Amino acid sequence: MSVTTGIGWDVHRLAEGRALVLGGVRIEHDRGLDGHSDADVLTHAVIDALLGAAGLGDIGEHFPDTDEAFRGADSLALLRDVVALLGYREVLHVDVSVLLERPKLAPHKAAIRDGLAGALGVEPDRVNVKATTGERLGFVGREEGVVALAVATLRAPD
Ligand code: MG
Repeated sequence: MSVTTGIGWDVHRLAEGRALVLGGVRIEHDRGLDGHSDADVLTHAVIDALLGAAGLGDIGEHFPDTDEAFRGADSLALLRDVVALLGYREVLHVDVSVLLERPKLAPHKAAIRDGLAGALGVEPDRVNVKATTGERLGFVGREEGVVALAVATLRAPD
């Protein structure tokens, strides 16, 4: 048996006229995340963590932002595609942190965790979602963008 870990990091810019989608959950806010897909920064970080743990490259290789097929894409659907690529590997755990100034994510964390777990095909206790602010510092603190970091742990039989 071998256990591997991967990290994922993503940033998206906050913009007017866009939806704020984090972990597949649409959150009421005066601005949303800009990007080619639905710009779900949290799910993108999870995808990169899984790809890293599996040695399968990064999200840009699998879902190029130059490809019209992925315009407005539902990132949870992309996550399900990545889970299919994992094949025989078992998702042991995924941990994710989101850095955003507003709005508070506390009321949404359970829904985000449950949605991610569903897409990953694991029980919710294998997924953890954390949120923190930028303490008014830097681009997160100025509400110019949102950062997400994820760590995924996979187990593969020998
Ligand atoms: Mg992204």
